[in-house]
Amino acid sequence: MQYRRFGNTGTEISALGFGCMRFPLLEDGRVNEAEAISMVRRAIDRGVNYIDTAYPYHQGESEKLLGRALQDGYRERTYLATKCPIWLVEEEQDFERFLDEQLDRLQTDHIDFYLLHALDRQRLEKMRALHLADHMVRAREAGKIRHIGFSFHDEVQVFKEIIDETDQWEFCQIQYNYIDRYDQAGDEGIRYAAEKGLGIIVMEPLLGGRLASLSEHVARCFSPDKTPVEHALDFVWNQKEISFLLSGMSSPQQLEDNLVYADRSAAGMLGEEELAAYAKAKEIFDRTSMVDCTGCAYCMPCPFGLNIPELFRAYNRYGVYGESGVREAYEAQTVRSDQCRGCRKCEQICPQGIKVSEVMKKIAALMG
Ligand code: SF4
Ligand code: SF4
Repeated sequence: MQYRRFGNTGTEISALGFGCMRFPLLEDGRVNEAEAISMVRRAIDRGVNYIDTAYPYHQGESEKLLGRALQDGYRERTYLATKCPIWLVEEEQDFERFLDEQLDRLQTDHIDFYLLHALDRQRLEKMRALHLADHMVRAREAGKIRHIGFSFHDEVQVFKEIIDETDQWEFCQIQYNYIDRYDQAGDEGIRYAAEKGLGIIVMEPLLGGRLASLSEHVARCFSPDKTPVEHALDFVWNQKEISFLLSGMSSPQQLEDNLVYADRSAAGMLGEEELAAYAKAKEIFDRTSMVDCTGCAYCMPCPFGLNIPELFRAYNRYGVYGESGVREAYEAQTVRSDQCRGCRKCEQICPQGIKVSEVMKKIAALMG
């Protein structure tokens, strides 16, 4: 395993971190606990030393499962990260209440890396109003957390404002991949955070899995010597400012593949020709992408039964293959886009800022 310096935190972290948002599932939709635990332990045995979860992942089951996975000596062998669900924090004392609940779920007496989850403009205001940075510092002084950071979804100007909000930040977590270079924090945000000495974690290096199975138009940009996943991960590892990346792995095979890719990763590993291929791939991808959904499912459940990420997955296939390539998948949905009531509950939580109800109208108009 390759290890990389994590900003000024004084830690060295494996190039690959384990994201616990997309554990393998059973047919009934519950997490396949035996397989998930075995994957977490296998990753640690192979040198992964950063495990990332959050309060809402798998409807609260991710933290609890991780608490069980890290028994038998595994907790001592890895750094553990989780996040404060800031959208649920309504008054100052909620901060500590959630933190204590998370320590309990994770069966540990401290969290190594604690983040304010998915900060954006609105949540920055809440962070200010409820003095959450001060609460983070007090929790660090009390030994309940070791390092303070935030994850982020918004535009780069907001990202810079958050960084400048306090000198207590030690690290940040951003969505980044070869498609999102100029969206969210993007290249500009990475440079800014690095100049301030923050450790930088990349999430969604595969854009919610969309870069793992490319349309043939996009795939043709790349050399066939590597898989689409390896191309996507290498793009992130190539950048020296980035500390490491998180992958939300859903099967033992994905884990094994990523471990091999991480073993041969290095900053500065890509030549000019390869970098040009990413730019070309992005150009084609952008032309055919209909909606920026990463499939994170934060918006679920929809109160009216729409499977939002599945409908959006079908819509993106429409961009590549046209109506005939998507009709069957669309019609397999029992509740279709025209059933959207426009309540916008999903829009309040979507980290990509997608105007879901408007997109549903467009899909309904296209698919009839
Ligand atoms: S806006 Fe539409 S898709 Fe979103 S939660 Fe409401 S009904 Fe469901
Ligand atoms: S619509 Fe937004 S919240 Fe829902 S799955 Fe897509 S990116 Fe995630």
